[in-house]
Amino acid sequence: DNSHYGTLKHINGGRGPMQKTFRDTDNLRSLLTQRHALPIFPVRNELLQELKKHQTLIILGETGSGKTTQIPQYIHEERLDRKGGVCITQPRRVAAISIAKRVAEEMNTNLGGLVGYSVRFEEAVSPATKLKYVTDGMLLREAISDPTLSRYSWVVLDEAHERTINTDVLFGILKDAQKTRKSTPGQDPLRLIIMSATMDVDHFSSYFANCPVRYVEGRQYPIEMFYAKKQEDDYVMTAMTTVFQIHQKAPQQHDILVFLTGQEEIDSAVANIRQIAKDDSLAECPRLKVLPLYAALPAHQQLDVFRPTAPGERKVIISTNIAETSITIPGIRYVVDSGRAKVRTYHPGSGFDALRVKKISQAQAWQRMGRAGREAPGNCYRGYTRQEFDAMDVNPTPEILRSNLASVILQLLAMGVKNVLTFDFIDKPSAAHIEAAMAQLTSLGAVAVQAESLVLTEAGGKMAQFPLEPRYAKAILSGPEYGCTDEVLSIISALSSESIFNNPSGRKDAAVNARRKFTSVEGDHITLLKVIRAFKAAKKNKMWCHENFLNFRNLTYALEVRKQLVQVCQRCGVTITSCQQNTDSVRRCLATGLYTNVAELQLDGKYLTLDTKQEAVLHPSSALWGGKPAYVLFTELVHTGKTYMHLNSIVDPQWLYEIAPDYFRKKHIKT
Ligand code: ADP
Ligand code: MG
Repeated sequence: DNSHYGTLKHINGGRGPMQKTFRDTDNLRSLLTQRHALPIFPVRNELLQELKKHQTLIILGETGSGKTTQIPQYIHEERLDRKGGVCITQPRRVAAISIAKRVAEEMNTNLGGLVGYSVRFEEAVSPATKLKYVTDGMLLREAISDPTLSRYSWVVLDEAHERTINTDVLFGILKDAQKTRKSTPGQDPLRLIIMSATMDVDHFSSYFANCPVRYVEGRQYPIEMFYAKKQEDDYVMTAMTTVFQIHQKAPQQHDILVFLTGQEEIDSAVANIRQIAKDDSLAECPRLKVLPLYAALPAHQQLDVFRPTAPGERKVIISTNIAETSITIPGIRYVVDSGRAKVRTYHPGSGFDALRVKKISQAQAWQRMGRAGREAPGNCYRGYTRQEFDAMDVNPTPEILRSNLASVILQLLAMGVKNVLTFDFIDKPSAAHIEAAMAQLTSLGAVAVQAESLVLTEAGGKMAQFPLEPRYAKAILSGPEYGCTDEVLSIISALSSESIFNNPSGRKDAAVNARRKFTSVEGDHITLLKVIRAFKAAKKNKMWCHENFLNFRNLTYALEVRKQLVQVCQRCGVTITSCQQNTDSVRRCLATGLYTNVAELQLDGKYLTLDTKQEAVLHPSSALWGGKPAYVLFTELVHTGKTYMHLNSIVDPQWLYEIAPDYFRKKHIKT
């Protein structure tokens, strides 16, 4: 039944002359067939009726049923986006970009036209954009300048079951915006769609005055489940062994999806599997095409996972939890689940977040399993025992209850929310938690007490303009005082990008040697600065990057980020001056924002963080590794076995006293 779609010309929207080749037409036909085969298609009209009837609707549907790609198109086809467009949020940038690309292709339009996306530091939108895929963080940012989100008629909060901190805050913002728009005469009502892949939606429904829930059936074939017989500590090794066991017996066209935790681990697993696959004993098996998938992957590599394999090939995709629900990869019949994910955790009472590898919840384990049976019966290998599974939490803890709230609270204040303590959170963080964030913002000078309530300072207002955590924004705002805004911008841009270093496996020594000239005795931040300066001096040359084991793409991205941060500086009246070779001031300036991230060398040669007195070690990739500076300013803590300090600089305790005297007096550092 094509009646909702009319002809192919209709899909083309009649915009411009048809200059398509026959192959494109074939491709379009095939896309249309695929769209019609999705489980959501038979309920298209019913859904549209419901959407017209209710201001807020919850749509519950299994992953792969077509919620994210189809519903916005249905709204557009029905011309329900005439007054204002549709904005669809995603927790991750990869998903926002790849889904927008897919939808643009299905609608036969150019990305950035009718269909666009907007993620931090990168967007493809125009005034013609009606369907816009954004990260939840971007929509939150838009709400600062436009709290009622007046440009949109529809907001779709997708992947709501993931309960990211930004989605959680958007719940409150959107509920409020809906009320405001309803009570303002002449305003177009704001329609909300909440989409979830898991069953526990009652909580969402009761938050929105018991709004209706619509269930969309998915496709699920039976899946055979295997548990580990005994508890395994090395989950990466267990997963890799399982991949080869499957590889030796499964038919060629059956692809494998492996869930691991983070970029470094995934890159090294990909390299190892590629290496092992060359072994003679596997000569009879199909060729292995091993692909990584994680949020920070460059766009062209992300799209590789969707490409069908060539004859004689088998795809193995090694992914973070991104493939759990937000992205569907065709062809998967085997899932290998490590039972782990990297999550951000926060220590209330201190100022920082850390990334930690943790056991997933049972709900996530079921989602991962489900990925094996979307097209045909499948198999799922859990790298943990049945007992371990039973001991997992049933559902994941919402991120808002376990992360640093400083960013979010700064944004709420910038949006004009008067009392953050009484904000209508769907799950309210504890008062202690909110107060800790307030304390951090106070000490950064972003908020101040005025007539017994906390208000945004002028500096705080500026900090909220930067698409960065407040402490990085603070370091940029301190730039003029130390005369090094230029340098700090370069460093923070490099930190906002994925690694600007290339470390091809097997050539580590060559890479380290080639980059030795950039290494600074002052630490990694100044090293990053030297690389950025050299990259500019080399006229952003690709070959030069290659010779120096630097990542051209990520460096280019870092300079793009820098350009955007310069624009924010100009808007906020921050002067940009350079301190040339005086890199002490650069480290001092960074410390004005990051001063809670300091570790002190102990008599026994170990480091303890000043804030929470945790034992930590310098990461082997750090420029400071092997040395024993008395005080280290670290960018981030990562727990993988040990607690590692990533990206570190030497700091002078005297500076720290000058920067935050009250804070450091309490920490009793030795000067
Ligand atoms: P849901 O949101 O319900 O999980 P989606 O709308 O994201 O479902 O996806 C529906 C289907 O569209 C998927 O099962 C997949 O087959 C297809 N699809 C989505 N994105 C792509 C892509 N980039 N390339 C190929 N197929 C895709
Ligand atoms: Mg989806």
